[in-house]
Amino acid sequence: MTELVIKDHPVRKRGTRKKGKSIEFATFVGIDGEGINVNLNTCYLCTHPREGHDPRHPFVEEHRYTLLAAAKETHEIQGSVPEKGLSIENLSTRECLDLILDIPLSHKIFAYAFGYDLTCMLRDVDNKSLYRLFRPELRARSGADAMKGPYPVRWECGQFLYFLNLQGTKFTVTRYDRCSSCLEADRKHRFGTRPRRCDSCQSSKRRQVVWDIW
Ligand SMILES: [Zn+2]
Ligand SMILES: [Zn+2]
Repeated sequence: MTELVIKDHPVRKRGTRKKGKSIEFATFVGIDGEGINVNLNTCYLCTHPREGHDPRHPFVEEHRYTLLAAAKETHEIQGSVPEKGLSIENLSTRECLDLILDIPLSHKIFAYAFGYDLTCMLRDVDNKSLYRLFRPELRARSGADAMKGPYPVRWECGQFLYFLNLQGTKFTVTRYDRCSSCLEADRKHRFGTRPRRCDSCQSSKRRQVVWDIW
């Protein structure tokens, strides 16, 4: 894992500091994931017998994203999946996004070469959504709304509704935990439009931003 050490840096909005008040310091968090290649014990060239297999034949390997961890500048672990130990299983998209969302919004998250991590962690998202996510020009708003940046990509996972946005080096993830009545209402009336979100669903909103410092 790349070690990321960033010095305290004051953050405040312009003109918000009152006289005599100390400057607030943001907590910086570095996030990084690791993958491994797993030998699937299947020959790339033939259906081989175990014994006497041609040793020149390569075996099929699968790349798996197996660890994602976030640490503060003090090296204190902010969170990781898996929580303890190591695994050779792929992390799910939900596990990865939820790890990011579990970090308080007041913390500033940075990653290095996050494109690799995003490609791996978003494996459960359908190809069409991924295509759009990596091409913000296809998601651009028009007219006066263009200032708000591109539309996010929606991804539903069970009761959870995620919105993903990627703009240059900024990745934003938003999650809503939807209530059973909104889910039930959507099941009955599927118009292919926006998933229903009542006030309670709306209040479950969590959001985080990851900056790629590549
Ligand atoms: Zn073979
Ligand atoms: Zn609801």
